[in-house]
Amino acid sequence: MKIHQIYTKSFMRNWNYIFELSNSDAIVIDPLDDVLINEFVDKNSLNLKTIINTHEHFDHIQGNQALIDQYGCDVWSHKNCIDKVPGLSRILEEGEIIELDTACKIKVLETPGHTFSHLSLLVISHDLQEAVIAGDALFNAGVGNCRNGGDPETLYQTISKQFCILDDSVVVYPGHEYLENNLKFTLSVEPDNIDAAEWLNDLKGTDPTSNFRPITIGDERKINTFMRLDSISLRSNLGMLDASDKDIFIALRERRDNW
Ligand SMILES: [Zn+2]
Repeated sequence: MKIHQIYTKSFMRNWNYIFELSNSDAIVIDPLDDVLINEFVDKNSLNLKTIINTHEHFDHIQGNQALIDQYGCDVWSHKNCIDKVPGLSRILEEGEIIELDTACKIKVLETPGHTFSHLSLLVISHDLQEAVIAGDALFNAGVGNCRNGGDPETLYQTISKQFCILDDSVVVYPGHEYLENNLKFTLSVEPDNIDAAEWLNDLKGTDPTSNFRPITIGDERKINTFMRLDSISLRSNLGMLDASDKDIFIALRERRDNW
């Protein structure tokens, strides 16, 4: 199975993803612009069979109806998305494993916090964790906000218990492209984070929406301050040396909201 990452050029900098199976069937994740998805499907002679929505926000479901009308796709999403996601035809359950292709399956992760209807998809290839479609839970060098139906404490539990435990080699595919801003935020609270500074420097003169290098969970552990809650530099900059990880995370989320 191939994972295609498609930049939507929307003002919110959304990423869409297409899983291309070996029999040319395709699954689209969070379609925003049906025209863009159509172009890709046509160009690659794919049969679009399924839509998966990571959550119910409009910019993750906007393309559903047009694609259903055209292809008659199934729509898979979280149980709390009934009446919110157009065409929902299958509820995905936490921990469910779905065989997609030869030696390739996805494991459904229930990842609340950005909203309470949020799923992520762990892609497992030849029994190895390969990638995670993280929606708006985990971004490259950041995490989703909690302002539209979410909760920071719940997001902390999700990041620490669902994402921090993934293998270092897992590629992170988020719902939005916010890398540069997020690296700058990391450096605002960890000015001595050499890795974040190097990544920011490498970004100069490049386009993060095309051909930028894959970012793994191992990278996130170095550049994503929301996954670095035990950093002494971070804690001292927040003036919270002895606080719990949860309180550090919530303080960071609040600071990012007002940054
Ligand atoms: Zn969202």
